[in-house]
Amino acid sequence: MLIFETQLALIEHLKVNSDSKSTIGFVPTMGALHQGHLSLVEKSLNNNDKTIVSIFVNPTQFNNREDLDKYPRNLESDVAKLQTISDKIVIFAPTVDDIYEGNTVSKPFYFDGLENQMEGKFRPGHFEGVGTIVKRLFEIVKPTNAYFGEKDFQQLQIIKKLVEKENLPITVVGCPIFREENGLAMSSRNERLSPNERNTAAIIYKTLLKVQQKFLTLQPSEIGEWVTQVFENQPGLKLDYFEIAEETTLVNNESKISNPKYRAFIAVFINNIRLIDTISLN
Ligand code: AMP
Repeated sequence: MLIFETQLALIEHLKVNSDSKSTIGFVPTMGALHQGHLSLVEKSLNNNDKTIVSIFVNPTQFNNREDLDKYPRNLESDVAKLQTISDKIVIFAPTVDDIYEGNTVSKPFYFDGLENQMEGKFRPGHFEGVGTIVKRLFEIVKPTNAYFGEKDFQQLQIIKKLVEKENLPITVVGCPIFREENGLAMSSRNERLSPNERNTAAIIYKTLLKVQQKFLTLQPSEIGEWVTQVFENQPGLKLDYFEIAEETTLVNNESKISNPKYRAFIAVFINNIRLIDTISLN
């Protein structure tokens, strides 16, 4: 298992150890790895000559200082988890200074309005941070294929847009959501939940499954009202937003139009910990 802590060291390694014919699979993460992350890594291992996993908690995508400070970090245990699936994975775990070179700020990005919906609205600056770090990592790693989870569906669409706009020769591969036994979407932030909170948080996915049923007969605005009520009656939980939106534009609709593919998106605070989830509706 090779671990690189500076971009120069990784670039040097890639110069010597890959050629124009070999494929590089890339899985960017913020660490505190779980089965969801590992499923992306396995997909990359199966489809590429080389797999690189980055572990980097990117400060510029956090709009909340406490969330950044409390974000779980444990490189040793992450390395051990990756080791259990393959010792051929290359890990890139740089410092903030190495990546940002003393200027830890986001660059401006325009993703055709995708950045103004949901997470963009509720976490100002978030997607400029995401665009900045992913573009930088793509420049360093130069992957053939890059793997992103559908759990962060808006992020996945934004990365596809980034690749299209910047004309990068990279295939962005979306991967399905991995869940705990109780349905809760796996997330590094789940590590901060108490056992009780984990049980309570199961209601997020249960609600999304009911939304899927209701979508057969009700309009999005009616479903939205129902979801608001569900969370008003849940002590310890606070709905940040619920939206039904078309998959490619992420624009939310009050009423259904027949053709497009729709998805429900939800963000919920459980105490101070913010969790997101999404489900396909048709
Ligand atoms: P993060 O470390 O949270 O930035 O996530 C790194 C990558 O793993 C992102 O592309 C996420 O969408 C993906 N991911 C996170 N949680 C899951 C999950 N439960 N199932 C599948 N992919 C996930």
